[in-house]
Amino acid sequence: MDLKHLRPYQLHELVAGGHPLLVPAGCIETHGPHMAIGHDTLIVEEICERIVARTTCAIAPSFDYGPTGYALGGPEDGTIDPDYDAFGGYVKSILRNFIEMGFRKIYVIIMHQGMGAPLALAFSKGASELSFEMVLDKGHKRGWWGDRKALDKVGWSNPIDVQPMILPEASPPAGGDHAGYNETSFLIATRPELVEQDRLDENAPWYCRENEEKNSWTANAEHGQAMVDAVVDTWVAKIDKER
Ligand SMILES: [Zn+2]
Repeated sequence: MDLKHLRPYQLHELVAGGHPLLVPAGCIETHGPHMAIGHDTLIVEEICERIVARTTCAIAPSFDYGPTGYALGGPEDGTIDPDYDAFGGYVKSILRNFIEMGFRKIYVIIMHQGMGAPLALAFSKGASELSFEMVLDKGHKRGWWGDRKALDKVGWSNPIDVQPMILPEASPPAGGDHAGYNETSFLIATRPELVEQDRLDENAPWYCRENEEKNSWTANAEHGQAMVDAVVDTWVAKIDKER
């Protein structure tokens, strides 16, 4: 279910049922001559669609413009890098609203750089700050940490869980890289119309040819589908366990 499509009564039913919210987070970043520049968000969106087909969740509109550090090129190559403070403030404000909607679990799902990189940290930092600030917002006095009753009443906990799209149990077969064997296969398996392997030639960047056998040229739907299946299975298991 897309959050954007819900009528208020449907949102209330989802929240009352304890169903989680999935939040795709990614970036616009050049992915070689053969792949869509939105891959890192697109693949998370595709995975979310497949999760929701198996277990009830809402999918939030994506955070598309995450930090990239221009690590692989600039805007002329198809890469966008936002102001990090502005992005962090925006992220935190929207996370606050997701919590205020009443979701008991909010999974932020990331397939870009690592959990210690600016994109993931923007979400983790916002979530951590909110978990403290929102206790005071509820009217509890400073010094609330030692007040067991207050803690129980506010249910002090952080509903936001920031995770890599590929959870450890899904790897192998799933793996990461940049527009190489794995990411190209992911996109072939989910959005084949957004991959043009015949655009790869001797000018293709280094990350397309990291391995002699496994590279952007040899990426294929079979490997992509095996990774997608593993990723979706582990997410459905995690969500159902934590529901
Ligand atoms: Zn990527």
